[in-house]
Amino acid sequence: MIFPSKLPHVGTTIFTVMSALARQHGAVNLAQGFPDFDPDPRLSERCVAALAAGRHQYAPMTGLPELRLALATAMREDFGIDYDADSEVTITAGATQALFSALGCLLHTGDECLIFEPAYDSYGPAILMNGAVPVPVTMKAPDFRWDWDAAAAKITYRTRAIVVNSPHNPTGSCFTEADLIALESLAEKHGLWVISDEVYAGIVHDGRRHFSCGSREVLRSRSFVCMSFGKTFHCTGWKVGACLAPAALSAEFRKAHQFTTFSVNTPAQAALADLCALREARRHGDFFEQRRDLLISSLAGSGLRPLRPCQGSYFQLFDYSALSDENDLDFAIRLTRERGVASIPLSPFSAAPDPAQRLIRLCFAKKPETLLAAAERLVSEPG
Ligand code: PMP
Ligand code: GLN
Repeated sequence: MIFPSKLPHVGTTIFTVMSALARQHGAVNLAQGFPDFDPDPRLSERCVAALAAGRHQYAPMTGLPELRLALATAMREDFGIDYDADSEVTITAGATQALFSALGCLLHTGDECLIFEPAYDSYGPAILMNGAVPVPVTMKAPDFRWDWDAAAAKITYRTRAIVVNSPHNPTGSCFTEADLIALESLAEKHGLWVISDEVYAGIVHDGRRHFSCGSREVLRSRSFVCMSFGKTFHCTGWKVGACLAPAALSAEFRKAHQFTTFSVNTPAQAALADLCALREARRHGDFFEQRRDLLISSLAGSGLRPLRPCQGSYFQLFDYSALSDENDLDFAIRLTRERGVASIPLSPFSAAPDPAQRLIRLCFAKKPETLLAAAERLVSEPG
């Protein structure tokens, strides 16, 4: 019996593969993007308090009102974007579900949806599962910027939507205001809907600001902005996120959301509502920038060359061409086995990767001692 797979070319995600390999070889895991330090202790305290207070039952379908309000307020204070907590904010099971439900409520069979590659790995499969076709637009090394003319050139009468992601995983590139303006005019001219993955909005470096699709009137009117509390509050395992969109779009989003998860776990939402309401708990200052700089400086002499300092997110790309001519997957596997450091190769983020590319991604959301332990293994002569 042959199962009629909707995703015949999809295997297990590279994040799962590399984390499993890291465990198997006792490697320092700079692969999958998650912090190895604890969140603010108040987060666990509030979650325990919510459990003790008997908050065990379904949350409202759209999310706890106090979390929606805290998020709407935080978005206004931190990024100057305005969403109504009741009609325009929906709490989801992580950004992954926000992205999936946004694409699900939007895409019809046979639609085309532009994605910039390298792309976070969930976009393509989510588009395919919703009966549509992902159309890749290449971001070129070494700068990995968004090429709006190349995107325009891929638009056909079937193009319904475009997925964007800034700060960008895996390259660390960030939108400028010019990118937002270009995206806005593209979306308006061609009637595109925009799915904007902004999970790293709070993690930008070197004095940059985050340019959100919610910050320009026309763009906002066409956008689903997807967020993740896991990134902002160092609790990726809680899997709580959100979708922000104008009321008419949110109403459609909620139709999809209510039949994918219905609602998100209550005690986690209660705890996040308390923390999200505290401005100081949302701010990272130069916390991540320091770790980025530590990773780059401690790897001097390792043969891994940083592409350019990450502008946003907690990932840094390194060129390993001085060390090896292997393809990136083989190199990442060998680095894990032989040098005890797990990374993520870049090629799984593209449908047709450049075979000459020699890049890996390292995650610097780690304790300084973890980053130094990885560097020690990579700088020392292979044993
Ligand atoms: N988008 C990007 C760019 C990501 O890096 C991630 C991974 N955390 C997600 C979406 C998914 O977020 P979540 O874990 O909240 O589902
Ligand atoms: N977002 C994380 C990363 O890019 C991984 C999430 C996952 O494992 N699905 O590493």
